[in-house]
Amino acid sequence: MCGIIAYVGDQPAQPIILSGLRALEYRGYDSAGFVVRENGQWRRWRASGPVAALAAKMNGASIRSGCGLGHTRWATHGAPTEVNAHPHAGGQDEVMLVHNGIVENFSRLKKKLAMVGTVFVSETDTEVLAHLIALCYAGDLVSAVAEAMSRTEGPLGIAVMHRARPDEIVVARRGSPMLLGLTDRGRLAASDAAAFAGWTDQVIYLADNEIARLTADSHQVFDARSARVDKVVTTISPAETAAELNGFPHFMRKEIYEQAETAASAWRGRLDPVTGAVKLGGLLDCQERLKNCSELIIAACGTSYYAGLYGQYLLSESAGLDARAEIASEFRYCQRSYPAAAALLAISQSGETADTLAAVRLAQAQGLLSLGLVNVAGSTLARETAAGVYNHAGPEIGVASTKIFLSQLAIFNLLALFWRQLHGRDRAEDLAWAQALVGLPDKIRQVLALDNRIAAIAERFCHYPNWLFLGRHFNYPVALEGALKLKEVSYIHAEGYAAGEMKHGPIALVSPEVPTVAIAPADRLRAKMIGNIMEVKSRRGPVIAIITAGDEEIKELADEAIEIPPTLDWLYPLLAVIPGQLLAYHAACLLGRNVDRPRNLAKSVTVE
Ligand code: GLU
Repeated sequence: MCGIIAYVGDQPAQPIILSGLRALEYRGYDSAGFVVRENGQWRRWRASGPVAALAAKMNGASIRSGCGLGHTRWATHGAPTEVNAHPHAGGQDEVMLVHNGIVENFSRLKKKLAMVGTVFVSETDTEVLAHLIALCYAGDLVSAVAEAMSRTEGPLGIAVMHRARPDEIVVARRGSPMLLGLTDRGRLAASDAAAFAGWTDQVIYLADNEIARLTADSHQVFDARSARVDKVVTTISPAETAAELNGFPHFMRKEIYEQAETAASAWRGRLDPVTGAVKLGGLLDCQERLKNCSELIIAACGTSYYAGLYGQYLLSESAGLDARAEIASEFRYCQRSYPAAAALLAISQSGETADTLAAVRLAQAQGLLSLGLVNVAGSTLARETAAGVYNHAGPEIGVASTKIFLSQLAIFNLLALFWRQLHGRDRAEDLAWAQALVGLPDKIRQVLALDNRIAAIAERFCHYPNWLFLGRHFNYPVALEGALKLKEVSYIHAEGYAAGEMKHGPIALVSPEVPTVAIAPADRLRAKMIGNIMEVKSRRGPVIAIITAGDEEIKELADEAIEIPPTLDWLYPLLAVIPGQLLAYHAACLLGRNVDRPRNLAKSVTVE
């Protein structure tokens, strides 16, 4: 899930590459590295840890070269040490390579290369690829990369330099993202447009198996058979590259606070509050197929999967659609066939999630209609699906997703209304629903105003090493998401459970040392949640209840109560998720964790 940035042009490469690396750091922060070719020598710096460690190491170095590569690593093969940091050298140092992905057949290749005398200095799969490219080189770097790619398996995004061609960079992609940036003063390549912020808004998205040759004033793109490909240049909006904290201490906090606006942007221009009508431009072309859709498979990973679970409940109950959420990494290996009238909806913030993309390709191979719910415009998923809906939520930088989860829930509401209207369902009900949606941003602000109270609760419980999160039906995904958030950023162990499952196992964990967050708003399952709260209290477990404002009965039972405003049953998750995000955020801060860059994680999971 590493981040790659490359630049060739008439400006010094160092500031461009370092600013790109900072923007890409959310993709991995195990180590960072930088290389340029200057006066016939490689000048390479590498450091384990974040980009700041690399920048500190380079401090004072005078680098004039306008051609170089940079990398932030999320380690898959080999510890996050300096020697495993990219760029990796290949051959007798004639090649320098940065890599995002996995060389799946690396051990076989490594043995073969060792037999012909190659000496490996790192534990990475990447080094194998660097040596292979050096071996395949016969005067043309594009051909060498094409040949090396054909001998390797697994997803990759790479940028390569060869010492015989000091003013040229070759980049390629297969599975992992890669795009080019065009400026008057050179060419860039990166894993994400965020790396181009301040340098260019003119980009070219490479398709899978494409290879590009970049020089200061030219770029050529080739397909897998080395035939030239004409590419479209896209202008990206500043919002797609912006990543400012705007006075917030962390991106996670900023993004939690953006959620009223995130919800409003999800339905801006799509939902008519006067008639309740929903228009989703991205689905216009396939309306007929959607109308006849026999079942909807919702494929996603992590937080997006939990949003998918919410979508499953909402679409099946309110739009009568046979919807089913699937974990993409499981679904992709499920050997069954689907009816031709089925459709697959893939959800991914980045639009680059490897398993979710694989699910899309599997569905397409079976002739199913593929749809995307994606935040990053122009991402692989957005381009590969036949139709879809964007979150329009702006960049999400915090590694633990917050505002995008809420946005995904908001968009499932639009999808449900859309499907109902496609089948001519009762508009009066839709109108009440639409109005409740329009009123939601204000209610989100009311929940955010509870921040201090939630911080105090986090302070009371953050030293408890195990937590439970319980919710039912629409709030079950909220329980899963609450537990995940806490694990991700505070490293406190937490389990999310469907509250009814409590007595089938997790109740054995309940004790005065295990707090339970019970999501118990005044919906049709409130009484059942009260039963669960009683069961926890009978075993002396502390309860933090998320309730509808004024619910004195639960307030009396619980140790702590977080009161959210009343809304429709299925809209509670859009409010109830926020206290969980804030609990996780405050617990992480109190425990001194790196909130925006939790250990071992990366924002966009581009490897399996
Ligand atoms: N496999 C490479 C490494 O471990 C790249 C990892 C990645 O792209 O996440 O260094």
